[in-house]
Amino acid sequence: MVNNLAWLWSAGTQGKTSRVRRKIALTNQVAIFGCVTVLPYQLFYLVDGLSPYTGIFTVNLVFMLAYAAVLYLNYRGESTTARNLLVGSGCVHALAATVFLSSAAGGHLFYFAVAGFLALVHEQMRASRFILLPLGVGVLYCVCQFVFTPERALLTLPERYLQIMYALSVFGVLTLSAVFSYLFHREIDMAEQEMTRNNRVLEELSSTDTLTSLANRRRLDDFLERASQRLQRRFQPLSLIMCDVDHFKPYNDLLGHPAGDACLQRIADTLRDTVCRQGDLVARYGGEEFAVVLPNTDRLGAMQVAETLRLAVQDLSLPHVPGSEQQVTISLGVTSVATPATTVTPAELIRRADEALYRAKANGRNRVEFSEF
Ligand code: GH3
Ligand code: MG
Ligand code: MG
Repeated sequence: MVNNLAWLWSAGTQGKTSRVRRKIALTNQVAIFGCVTVLPYQLFYLVDGLSPYTGIFTVNLVFMLAYAAVLYLNYRGESTTARNLLVGSGCVHALAATVFLSSAAGGHLFYFAVAGFLALVHEQMRASRFILLPLGVGVLYCVCQFVFTPERALLTLPERYLQIMYALSVFGVLTLSAVFSYLFHREIDMAEQEMTRNNRVLEELSSTDTLTSLANRRRLDDFLERASQRLQRRFQPLSLIMCDVDHFKPYNDLLGHPAGDACLQRIADTLRDTVCRQGDLVARYGGEEFAVVLPNTDRLGAMQVAETLRLAVQDLSLPHVPGSEQQVTISLGVTSVATPATTVTPAELIRRADEALYRAKANGRNRVEFSEF
């Protein structure tokens, strides 16, 4: 329900950071609350016969317009002016109402309640001011309480009316405190959720390769580290495949880097689509080299995956250079640790797979080689 009502106080919050959004929303909420609390009083003056109340009725109307202006200013993006107008009109309104109705009507109680919330509307306010603002407002309350007695009020109201008004003021202040505490907590919860979402996006970005959208080197190192520790504990095998595009330098030199990049993207997509077991990781190791981590996979399984990858890239039938019969191919080096209980570091794994890859290159490329641990 609150979400459906949120549009009421969301004027001017669009596109702002969550902290600024919270302050603008709170300004709007206090302005709306100011308008709403005055309404029953205005209705009472109208129903009871306007003529003795013309003064207070007009004053209330002016301040209702001021609260509406706060919403409009926020809508126009002038949030600082909106905030200052709200603080000023809120305090002067409570003072004016007390001058008319006397402290016995309790209107000045709003000083207390509103002050606490207005302090939160201020940006980067020093801690001392957070204390001084409610203190100053408290002093105002005391002055009003003792100076504007019913005998000195501009309006003479029956005792019964004053009591009803006082009860309404207390009711308003209590409601104000409860509603704003709830709304403020809700805003903080939402800001926290947004922060968690942003952190997730950042984490995703920092571990993704921008060209191929595969995991990047950072994620690969982290994944290998965790996988080798986990599998050592469980006495399960771990395999690593290193892939390198064959004769990719001439491809780049002849067709240009944009074509080279497009080729790397096609190969990356193919590797990702071919390695489909959950828990495996395909990463861009760097340049035109890729790594595939296969947890809980032994030598035989890893060799099968590597051969499938080799064939998948070959089957893409990407012409190596215009006019040549050759196609883009990859060479692969595989290594596998059968009993990772013998402590193996990710760096050693990569070194072994690289050795195998080197042999695959030396033995004619477009092939798979294995390096024993
Ligand atoms: P080999 O078969 O021995 O691997 O030969 P190669 O030419 O592929 O070997 P080398 O590692 O010397 O060349 C790698 C080339 O890959 C260098 C560069 O032109 C290209 N390359 C590396 N990273 C990128 C990249 O991000 N984009 C593009 N377009 N080319 C890249
Ligand atoms: Mg290379
Ligand atoms: Mg290469």
